[in-house]
Amino acid sequence: MSAYLVTIGLEIHAHIKTASKMFDGCPADYAGAAPNSYVSAVSLGLPGTLPVLNARAVELAACAGMAINCHVNPRSVFSRKSYPYPDLPKGFQITQYDEPLCSDGWLDVQTAAGETRRVGIERLHIEEDTGRLLHAGDDDSSLIDYNRSGTPLMEIVSRPDIATPEEARLFFEKIRQVLVWIGASSGNLDEGALRCDANVSVRPEGQAEYGAKVEIKNINSFRFVERALTYEIQRQSEILQAGGVVVQETRGWREDLGRTEGQRTKEFAHDYRYFPEPDIPPLELSAAWITERQAELPELPDTRRARLVAEHGLNPQDADMLTLERPVADYFESAVAATVAAGGSAKEVANWVLNEGFRLLKERSEPAAALATHMPVAHIAALIGLVVTGSITRGVAKQLFEESFDSGADPAHMVTERGLTQISDSDALLVAVRATLADEKAAKAISEYRGGKATAVQFLVGMVMRATKGQANAQVVRSLLEAELAK
Ligand code: MN
Repeated sequence: MSAYLVTIGLEIHAHIKTASKMFDGCPADYAGAAPNSYVSAVSLGLPGTLPVLNARAVELAACAGMAINCHVNPRSVFSRKSYPYPDLPKGFQITQYDEPLCSDGWLDVQTAAGETRRVGIERLHIEEDTGRLLHAGDDDSSLIDYNRSGTPLMEIVSRPDIATPEEARLFFEKIRQVLVWIGASSGNLDEGALRCDANVSVRPEGQAEYGAKVEIKNINSFRFVERALTYEIQRQSEILQAGGVVVQETRGWREDLGRTEGQRTKEFAHDYRYFPEPDIPPLELSAAWITERQAELPELPDTRRARLVAEHGLNPQDADMLTLERPVADYFESAVAATVAAGGSAKEVANWVLNEGFRLLKERSEPAAALATHMPVAHIAALIGLVVTGSITRGVAKQLFEESFDSGADPAHMVTERGLTQISDSDALLVAVRATLADEKAAKAISEYRGGKATAVQFLVGMVMRATKGQANAQVVRSLLEAELAK
């Protein structure tokens, strides 16, 4: 097969996390509510109603724009996009067209091969979401739920800078990470609060103009975006290879069938008959307002990751994991402060969080943000302090971590109450060492050790550790064993 160039662009829709809808005070937190119970005259598009712009939605969207390196335009304009479909009660959507809220940004993504790829962002604009059509009955009828109608959305449009399905997934994931990090969106894919459309075209190498653009609609998972694009690139390449013509159209991803299916030939912008929204004046934002939004932004994930590496000497992979979600990064840094005070290091905290903490969260099917509740900063710091000062062994600490994670009990109390302190006293350990050497199960290892196999002592250390319920100081045990065996 001859070589083809792939061009991918993403349009990502994200719900903006506000209490009320985009153009009136109707509550927007309809999750789990009965159909059509979160509606108002405005969100139902009744005649005579007037939209009033949600100020918080504009603030959060502007923050989101800055977080993806866009600039916020001092003036933006709302437009009507005509779209005759029953989930849109007014027959048009209020959106932004040629003058969006934010423009010209970018995000970097790291590929599995370790390459950094910069994806340009053309714009971020704000608009209202539609209602939802439900095809539930056994006849041909459809039901409509308007709870979602009029909820605030931001649409982020990338430049066609994406060259592989992997990069598309990484970009989609990165957008989610940033939006959730700054609190602008829940990023909840299952609830449809984050979804993406992918544009993809393929052209023979050496051809300057882009191939026909196919749009894959409403992808609601990171895995699906990668799979759908992989499929579509293959499909278009095969058509070109066979001398055919790729049709510009909208297609849907059928996860159950593992393929895309044609839905309709692509609309063009003029089909939407955009015109300026007469009921909402142009949005004018002062320089002072924009500066306030800038100040509202927290330290962003990439900056945070670089700082964790520089300040705490973490390796980049650990820093990646610790900055996927802001509550985890916050927890980590609080735990570091408390642990350093107790004599431990940041590296120790990273290891306990990533190994024991993440393992238990996964086993208990809990979100990463729940770590702070299960293992308060004071507990993890105390536990690490007990290990680094030699008060308890790592083995005991691991057991206590899990127990404390589940029960919420203070590890320091458990150590005192149960007498779990590490035994480093040679006289006390010598008793256990001699008892072990007298045990017939030790006979084979003893003769191997005496026969010159130095590593056989490890087996004997293990026996003493078990006999002392993991509380013995393994180094002391080892030197005692070597001394006894040398006799
Ligand atoms: Mn849109």
